[in-house]
Amino acid sequence: MQRSPRQILKAVFGFDEFRPLQEEIIAAVLARRDVLAVMPTGGGKSLCYQVPALVDDAGGGLVLVVSPLIALMRDQVAYMREFGVEARVLNSTLTPDEWRANAEAARRGELRLLYLAPETLTSARVRDLLDTLVTESRLRLFAVDEAHCISEWGHDFRPDYRALGALRQSLRGVPCLALTATATERVREDIRQELRLESPLELVAGFDRPNILLEVRRRAKVVDQLAALAKEYPGRSGIVYCFSRARAEEVARALSAMGVKALPYHAGLGPDTRSRNQDLFIDDEVQVIAATTAFGMGIDKPDVRFVAHADLPKSLEQYYQEVGRAGRDGLPARAVLFFGFGDVMKIRALLALGDRGAWEEYGEGDEDPDAEAARAARTANAEASLRSMLRYAEGSACRRATLLAHFGDSYPSGSCASCDICLGLGEKLEEVDLTLQAHKFLSCVKRTEERFGAGYVVDVLLGSKNERVLGLGHSKLSTWGIGKEWTRSQWLDLSRQLIKKGYLGKDEEYGVLSLTSKAYEAFRDKNAILAVLPPRGKKTAAEAQQVRAQKGEALPFGPAAAGSGSGEKLEQALRALRKRLAEEGRVPPYVIFSDRTLGELVALRPASGDALLEVFGLGPIKVERYGASILAAVASARAG
Ligand code: ADP
Ligand code: ZN
Repeated sequence: MQRSPRQILKAVFGFDEFRPLQEEIIAAVLARRDVLAVMPTGGGKSLCYQVPALVDDAGGGLVLVVSPLIALMRDQVAYMREFGVEARVLNSTLTPDEWRANAEAARRGELRLLYLAPETLTSARVRDLLDTLVTESRLRLFAVDEAHCISEWGHDFRPDYRALGALRQSLRGVPCLALTATATERVREDIRQELRLESPLELVAGFDRPNILLEVRRRAKVVDQLAALAKEYPGRSGIVYCFSRARAEEVARALSAMGVKALPYHAGLGPDTRSRNQDLFIDDEVQVIAATTAFGMGIDKPDVRFVAHADLPKSLEQYYQEVGRAGRDGLPARAVLFFGFGDVMKIRALLALGDRGAWEEYGEGDEDPDAEAARAARTANAEASLRSMLRYAEGSACRRATLLAHFGDSYPSGSCASCDICLGLGEKLEEVDLTLQAHKFLSCVKRTEERFGAGYVVDVLLGSKNERVLGLGHSKLSTWGIGKEWTRSQWLDLSRQLIKKGYLGKDEEYGVLSLTSKAYEAFRDKNAILAVLPPRGKKTAAEAQQVRAQKGEALPFGPAAAGSGSGEKLEQALRALRKRLAEEGRVPPYVIFSDRTLGELVALRPASGDALLEVFGLGPIKVERYGASILAAVASARAG
């Protein structure tokens, strides 16, 4: 009997719902249509080719997946095998025997998924294998992950991806699924052309990742700040992104000295050290990786709880991608950007000097000389990218709205309830340029003829239609409703600062505001007005995530999971069990079961196999394999 994608989702993966676009994408490729999908990191792209590989149990048919990084493929194969799905890889790390075995398995029709590394695409052996598969009509789908790598306009162009064009031509008749997390229209056009997509279904998922709390903090002694952050998440993983290799080394050393297990990761380390450090991180042996931007694209660790930036990234695109590596499992996660004015100077200086070496190391560039043209184009765009990054870091509006606007995604105005601005989090920041808002406020005082107090001025700015405003005809003023980007409390905060700074006078008796000569000067001379950015509301990060948890957006399993003593004990027992099973099976712990599954086990305390099947992420295969050990852990936590 044929199972539907939804049945496979539940029966194999143990998930109840598709994430946005997954179902549409799967339906389209099953109808043999080409698809180009842009989904954010963590959006669940892999499932879009994994599920089609499993539809129709009897008929066979193989899904080919091209993916740029070897570690990613290895993890996915382990992950799929955990679900009882035959998957293999062909890449340059295999011994000749392994290669032959994997290719033979594909020829014999034993596989559901075959992962190919880009560097193998031009090899005669692969061509030969694919020819056979095409001739025998055994290919069901051709999936290209990280499809933006095909474009020189993208931010990580890979020359190997060029070979995909010719390959696609030889696979005529096989539907193609191109997936990426970042693609501007120009990059999308390249993908369409290079992969010869025929009137593809194009889908772009929203870029919002609501479970990630976005914060910008003033940088002081950054290693102390980082250690404090890591200690909020005992036993949970985090990534710290750094400006340079030397900085990554320094951060890893300093964190270790402060009792936070950390290792560096950057292109200057040998491949062995790199992959060892990465594995230790994936296996939860070290808590933190201090990395240059080279780290992360190849890993698929869903339970990274925080991503911190010790230095300013080069662009918002880069920032978004790196931040996206937090909380892929959908549980609460944090993104903290430590920002100091030194950053701006440092980056401007690099740009001005045309110091390409240093600049490239900042992004870990690519070593391929072919990429020279793309690199030059990028350097020309570097200033613009940096400006967008600064707008984010120094901005006074909701971080989420700023980020999404950059990707052409709009965010409903009002509080996102999950960024430092909307929550009014953290220490007072240094003063920033609030000329625009100050001008709005001062103009509004002027237009209302300096006859009202701050509260009324704010009514007008916010576009109130209360009786008084309408009665006085102030809804016709040019300043009516021009202040909707801020909340009432933010405007009131600014008005207090403007009084303190001498731009406004305040009548003692009635609180009526009036402009001072300093205000007129500021208008005339176009002086910048600096002030501390007023916070939007007053909640702590933890409270905010709690609120979201209650709204059902995520489980109450964020930082420093609150809860009963026995809950904590069970959580520890389950983590230990997961670690042991992972070691036995030689797979990363998250492959056994995810943090979300762990959270539900703690909350639901299932006592039977049937009850286990109700738990997120546990399908029949997992229950058969691990059910007994899980139930034993739950039972002994109850007894103890
Ligand atoms: P991407 O490749 O888009 O960055 P992944 O495919 O790695 O994202 O998926 C991220 C995480 O989300 C994985 O842990 C995956 O198991 C999980 N996931 C994917 N689809 C679903 C779903 N429908 N329900 C629950 N979890 C999902
Ligand atoms: Zn916000």
